[in-house]
Amino acid sequence: MSLEGLQNAIQKSRNIVCLLGVNASQDCGCLNYRWGDRIYELESRYGQSPEEIFSAVFYNTRTKQFFEFYQKEILSTLGTPDACMRTLAKMEKDGKLNAVVTREIFSLAKRAGCKNVLELHGSIYQNKCPHCGKEYDIEYMKKGKPVPLCEKCGATVRPQVCLVGEMIDNQILTAAVNEIQKADLLLILGCNMSAMLTTTCVKYFNGDRIVLINEKEHYKDDVADMVYHAKPRDILPKVYPLKNKRI
Ligand SMILES: [Zn+2]
Repeated sequence: MSLEGLQNAIQKSRNIVCLLGVNASQDCGCLNYRWGDRIYELESRYGQSPEEIFSAVFYNTRTKQFFEFYQKEILSTLGTPDACMRTLAKMEKDGKLNAVVTREIFSLAKRAGCKNVLELHGSIYQNKCPHCGKEYDIEYMKKGKPVPLCEKCGATVRPQVCLVGEMIDNQILTAAVNEIQKADLLLILGCNMSAMLTTTCVKYFNGDRIVLINEKEHYKDDVADMVYHAKPRDILPKVYPLKNKRI
């Protein structure tokens, strides 16, 4: 599909909402603990799959091992926002993009400068003592051995992320649904049409066009109106250049 078509669609749109998939955060260098390349290596190192370790059951029963994995594997691969994320930030600043909805937990869109990011699975940058509510930054979470403890009350500080087996925060989901219902263009980046993020969100979209940019082909791609099989960072900056003013 031509890039010109996408450029025109973006140009015409006044209210874009982006669904930002985990492949886009993997492109920035973050660990994908569900489907990433390193899953088998990590499973042999820890004796359990990353998905099992990154679960509520594991966190509650083997907290020390959870933090060993969390500090070594998750907090050591924070990634760097790429041209795709920077383009989203520019689109938001220009008034084109109204919201980013994502399940990724590395806050890449926010780190690139996006303001209205609805992080359905929370963020590793938000950490809180479940007992007294005191908040902690990511540096504190990196240092606490074997587990980060609250300075005030001694309880284990918990990353505010949705672990496997936990429910999505209903307030954030409602806010995401509201944004999607108002959107005229849905920009799906770094996931396919059958990904959890897409199936959760697409049903609320009443706008004109669904655009999908994802490297790997999938049989359900045709549900989208415009499909590009490439990394989002190789497409989006071409149709919405970072240096120019509004298009
Ligand atoms: Zn506390």
